[in-house]
Amino acid sequence: MAHVETLIVGAGLAGLRALYALGQKGITATVLEASDEIGGVWNHNRYPGARCDVESFDYSYSFSEELEQEWRWTERYPTQPEILRYINHVADRFDLRKDIVLNTRVEEAAYDEDRAIWTVTAADGRTRTANVLMLCLGQLSAPKIPSYPGQDTFAGKLIISAIWPKEKIDFTGKRVGIIGTGSSGMQMTPVIAETAAHLTVFQRTANYSLPAANAPLSDEEVAQVKANYAARREQIRNSPSGLGFRPGKVKTLEVSDEDREAALEKSYHRLGFGFALTFPDILLNEEANAVASDFLKRKMAERVSDPELKKKLVPSDHGFGTRRPSVDGGYFEAFARDNVSLADIREHPIVEFTPEGIRTEEKLHELDIVIFATGFDAITGALLKPRIVGRGGQTLAEKWADGPLTHLGLATAGFPNLVMVAGPGSPSVLSNVIVSIEEQADWYAQMLATMKAEGTVEFETTETAEQGWTDYVQVRARETLYGTADSFYNGGEVAGKPRVFMPYSGGVRHYRLKLIECADAHYAGFEQRTAPLARSTDVAANG
Ligand code: NAP
Repeated sequence: MAHVETLIVGAGLAGLRALYALGQKGITATVLEASDEIGGVWNHNRYPGARCDVESFDYSYSFSEELEQEWRWTERYPTQPEILRYINHVADRFDLRKDIVLNTRVEEAAYDEDRAIWTVTAADGRTRTANVLMLCLGQLSAPKIPSYPGQDTFAGKLIISAIWPKEKIDFTGKRVGIIGTGSSGMQMTPVIAETAAHLTVFQRTANYSLPAANAPLSDEEVAQVKANYAARREQIRNSPSGLGFRPGKVKTLEVSDEDREAALEKSYHRLGFGFALTFPDILLNEEANAVASDFLKRKMAERVSDPELKKKLVPSDHGFGTRRPSVDGGYFEAFARDNVSLADIREHPIVEFTPEGIRTEEKLHELDIVIFATGFDAITGALLKPRIVGRGGQTLAEKWADGPLTHLGLATAGFPNLVMVAGPGSPSVLSNVIVSIEEQADWYAQMLATMKAEGTVEFETTETAEQGWTDYVQVRARETLYGTADSFYNGGEVAGKPRVFMPYSGGVRHYRLKLIECADAHYAGFEQRTAPLARSTDVAANG
């Protein structure tokens, strides 16, 4: 049975970055990846139009100045193929592949309390052991796949946006249906509309979206960023969400009407969902949020000419930013095409699939291809897929039955020597996630190196520490408007999921300070043992 110091599960942006960070500290690690390729969500989300809605300069690793200078992004918002090329380049450039095992889906991980060792079992039955288990499974990676009556009878092709097939799908002459109008559905709509015979977008909830303002990057622009990269990274690390611009400081209602309109207009054309930071109170104060929401509703309405469609496509049931907004490349304009129509499934819900297509309460939509762009079981979904067994045989799913409990988003009591990246209680989906990933990866590497040097064989967060942090996450969330809508931030995206606000909303900078504080206090909130607790308890019990 192969043994390493750390087993990392998942070879996406987080797993690779963690592998690099541990290597820098001389800690041996192996990454186990279910797919036949690295890249995580950027390997799986190959749908037409897929791109990141964080700027490429910022959606990239900051750990190597050489990498920053060598790599040349081609567009302001990078496409999925370009990000996947970047991830593969990093793996080659830093010789990471030798420690990555592909085609290895982890099904179970069990903690041996006597030996302080994790045993990980893959789908092929092979087991591996490690002192430490690090879960880098992604926060939006477990797809949510609806199951409608008759779905199996559909004679056409069913595709899930988050598990997009590698072969090219030809939409030419096809009648296509997209279910879901989050970032994925909105991004693919204008692209698929270009070739499909007809495209029907099935919308349950209208979503806020801003134009992407994407463009090729000129040599001058690239040179300018590269000349000042260090300062840009520093500013990002000290920002609320890890985005590369300076957020507004003056409150929404403290400026004149003209100045407010001008500021919103400027952000709208440049910042994507960073628009939310035009004023510091847009996500904190209802009046401020209403101003920003009304501005965007006006903008979205201007992009649609048909009055009936306008009413349906502009959101009316939640404030801007209380659910994840999109950044699109021509979503609203696509509805002006003769071959694109909207099916409002809030008004006329889907009744069933038939061999011919989708029957709503209104009519049968005849289709050749149906795409589920229905999102993810967010934040905890992927973490709870493998059976993770901690102290006393308790599973992580049992422990988190009423919602996740973590100390600083790092670890959970009863699961010694287990850590997670971008998990619940960390900024995760409320941040430019690569910033959060890097912060945690480096922090863990230092923590593990320190503990190794000190002879710690078992570390475990305490119930007091995790309860304290989990309560604090709720306190910070209540300062915001996130609680005013159902979303994947609060478990509202999956029926029956515990309704707990999961990401840390206090910002990237504040989170980083909390991590530093914890490390400076010799990893406060973690018990560190030079012998496994189980063994020392046995010794005590036996006199
Ligand atoms: P999402 O934002 O969760 O959107 C899912 C959509 O599917 C929603 O419109 C939802 O409607 C609908 N839906 C879910 N279940 C349904 C059902 N049973 N019947 C009908 N409609 C259903 O998912 P996503 O678009 O994949 O995006 C998720 C996140 O991934 C994004 O917010 C972003 O963080 C990330 N992402 C990023 C990018 C990017 O960087 N550009 C691209 C794609 C994804 P309701 O709203 O009514 O639930």
